[in-house]
Amino acid sequence: MAMKSWLDIPAGSHFSLANIPFAMITHAAASTPRPAVAIGDHALDLESFTANSGFRDLSIIQPHQSVFSEPTLNAFAALGRPFHSVVRKYLQDVLNEKTTYPEVLKDNRDLRAQCLIPIKDVTMHLPMKIGDYTDFYAGMNHAQNCGVLFRDPSKALQPNYKHLPVGYHGRASSVVVSGTPIRRPSGQILERPDADMPMFSPCKRLDYELELGGFICKANKMGEPVQVNSAEDYLFGLVLMNDWSARDIQAWEMVPLGPFNSKNFGTSISPWVVLADALEPFRTKGLDSGGVVTLAYLEEQRKDKVYDIKLEVDLKTPQGTTTPLTRTSARNLLYSFPQFIAHHTVGGCPLSVGDLMGSGTISGTETQSFGSMLEQNKGGKETIKLQDGSERKFLEDGDTVIFRGCCGADVSALVGFGSCEGTILPTYSTTTT
Ligand code: CA
Repeated sequence: MAMKSWLDIPAGSHFSLANIPFAMITHAAASTPRPAVAIGDHALDLESFTANSGFRDLSIIQPHQSVFSEPTLNAFAALGRPFHSVVRKYLQDVLNEKTTYPEVLKDNRDLRAQCLIPIKDVTMHLPMKIGDYTDFYAGMNHAQNCGVLFRDPSKALQPNYKHLPVGYHGRASSVVVSGTPIRRPSGQILERPDADMPMFSPCKRLDYELELGGFICKANKMGEPVQVNSAEDYLFGLVLMNDWSARDIQAWEMVPLGPFNSKNFGTSISPWVVLADALEPFRTKGLDSGGVVTLAYLEEQRKDKVYDIKLEVDLKTPQGTTTPLTRTSARNLLYSFPQFIAHHTVGGCPLSVGDLMGSGTISGTETQSFGSMLEQNKGGKETIKLQDGSERKFLEDGDTVIFRGCCGADVSALVGFGSCEGTILPTYSTTTT
């Protein structure tokens, strides 16, 4: 039986009482970014809530209330998972129709008017100050599909793939919040495999990658690895992540050290961080390694190590037609976030609060479940039909890519991420037209 709020929460809302995701917002009465949680169609401004004694009945948080006046969620995240859990449960109680504390918000009309802002009137900001960003490659179907396109299909996965979560160090400076336009990069591309010279050109193969991003809430000391079975303490929560990719720039530059300019021009994330606690009921088994033995430092005790998050990608053309491109689930991962954390730190690499880790592109096994256009068009050989009859191989200027992610089947108890969107701008030009 779903918890019910005294606030009207539309059926199908991603932000039911079972969720309580955190984000950074500004609004008409508050021009400096402040933490908030989402509930139905509203954001609860936590700076204002705190200033008006909203946490009066939660003594454990009182010495730490300044975290809700910070310009990012880093300070709140750094309090640790037991604090996140207590704060989330308290807010669930305060918002519940049978709340233990009706005087805090339910019966406090003035505070409700001041703190509860319609989400449509709110501006979203990056939730965390991101020090470092690492992108993994744990979507095994995606790795298989890409391997088939570029290598011998019988050896599509590299020999290391089932032994360690492959990753690369990304670029935190170009991680942006949903809604930020993405400018088409220009760079070196090899137009034909037999060309003598690369050319400088706007990217002609601009793609999306459907991923989850995980935020770190606990630091480890340099030289001290995090054990895989305690690595969950380091995971604050998840967001949707679009690792925009310039396939033609990538193909030319990535041997032998991996992607560089093809991935560093923009990475979009959804604004609401769904806490790891809220995802607990949706745990499930990940992909099967087919009997390959995992080394002990990566072996998790629990087998339901990933989350069953329904994931969708739509493409909206400049003319306004929307076409579904991807329908899949986040269960299509070979490795979990605790395994990313254990592997990242195994040699002693220190993580910091606010670090971001990407899962890698998440694909199912059917064309409609592939998490990138490269897979759907078989490496550019086929076209993708849009609803208005037009065709795409890759993204065109003015296209908007929209990700959505949601857990659960009960429309009054969904745990969703909202959306992660970005529109492609024409490449940067110094010439006047
Ligand atoms: Ca990626």
